[in-house]
This record gives sequence, structure tokens and C-alpha cells, in this order.
Amino acid sequence: MNRNLQNKQLESLQTAMRARQTQLREEIRQALVKSDSEHYLQIADSVRELEDESFADLIVDVGLAEIDRDLDELRAIDAALLRMADGSYGICAACDRPIDVKRLNLTPQALRCIDCQTIFERTHFQKTGHTL
Ligand SMILES: [Zn+2]
Repeated sequence: MNRNLQNKQLESLQTAMRARQTQLREEIRQALVKSDSEHYLQIADSVRELEDESFADLIVDVGLAEIDRDLDELRAIDAALLRMADGSYGICAACDRPIDVKRLNLTPQALRCIDCQTIFERTHFQKTGHTL
């Protein structure tokens, strides 16, 4: 666990992430509905009442860019909440150092510290040919 984080901060980060999850689920559902495809409408229907991580599992292969982006964020938040539960939250996955609390307040689901994230994005986006 990141020793720079107090229980109160953890609680408020958790609250923020849960609120964001709800918002993202709603955004995804609305995007599915808007797509006006029978298949996506069915998915939107079936995920309406889901509150846990099976939501992200159900819509794994949608292939719509705006949904995929929300889905990525939703999965990152799901994972961060799991790390909170197992005590590994707030520790950089790449260098094992505590992630800056300011960064966590901005991006609660952050998996890496800012230095490692910068390196990761540079290599990742080079490999896939994407640019920001
Ligand atoms: Zn790091």
C-alpha cells in the first residue's frame, strides 16, 4: 500500500472512482443505443442493470471507438478498485514506488507513476503507430 495515502484519501478516491464507473456505464449504454444497431441495442438492454465488472466483460467486442475508449477507462477503474482491495493500490506497476498523491487525485485509476507512464506511452504508441 502507498504509505503517503491516508484512509480518508483512499475513501474519497474510491468514491470518485465508483461515481466515474456509474457515469462511464451510462455513457457506454447511451452510445450503444445511439449506434442504432439491433445487436448493440440488445447489448445495451442486457447491461442496463449490471453494476459489477461483468459489465465490461459483456461488451468486450463492440469495436466502436468512442465505446472502446470509455471501456478502457472503465476496466482501468475496475482494476484500481481491485488493487485497493488487495492493498497494492497507489504503487507504480513498473517501478514499485508510490505514485504521487496529486497524480492519484487527478487520475485515481493510474497504474504507473508519471515517469513510467511517459515511458510506457512513448513505447506503446510507437509500436501501435498511434499518436495522441
Ligand atoms: Zn514508476
